[in-house]
Amino acid sequence: MADPVWSIRCPRCALLRPHPWTGRARVNANKAKLDAWLLFRCEGCGRVHKHRVFRRVSVAGVALSVLDALHSNDPEGLRPLLPAGAVTSWSVEGPIVDRPTTVVLSVPSGLRIRLDRVFARGLGCPRGAVAAWLPEARLSRPVRDGQRVMVVPPGG
Ligand SMILES: [Zn+2]
Repeated sequence: MADPVWSIRCPRCALLRPHPWTGRARVNANKAKLDAWLLFRCEGCGRVHKHRVFRRVSVAGVALSVLDALHSNDPEGLRPLLPAGAVTSWSVEGPIVDRPTTVVLSVPSGLRIRLDRVFARGLGCPRGAVAAWLPEARLSRPVRDGQRVMVVPPGG
C-alpha cells in the first residue's frame, strides 16, 4: 500500500505542504497513562509534525494490538490511528479535453491534494506541464469539491 500523505500547513515553510507519514509513532508512558503521536515529515523542509493520537489515556483502555504497534513502530498496526485526512490512494476520472472546457471537480471530503497533482494524473503529464493546460488556476492549492477549473489544451 502507498505511504499515507497528509497535506497540512507547515509552520516553517508557512505553506500547505504534503507530509508523508514516516511510518513511526512516538510514545510516552507515565505510570499507567499513555501519550502517543504519529510522526509526519514535511516534504518541503523535513520538519516533523507530531499528530497526537492519545492524550493521557489509561493504558488499560487501549487495545493490546495498538499498544504493540506503538511500542514496536509497526506501520501496519499503526495504520488504524491515521487521521482521516491522510490519504493512501486516490484516482481521477474525467472527460477527454480537446477544446477549452470548464471542468467541475467532485472531491471526496477529507482529500487535500494540490490541483496540479490531480491534473497531472488526469492528463497523464508531468506536474510541471500542467500550467500550460490551466492558465487561470492556482496550481499549488488543494482541490475543493465543486471547484470549477478552465482547461485549455496547449497549442490548440
Ligand atoms: Zn516545511
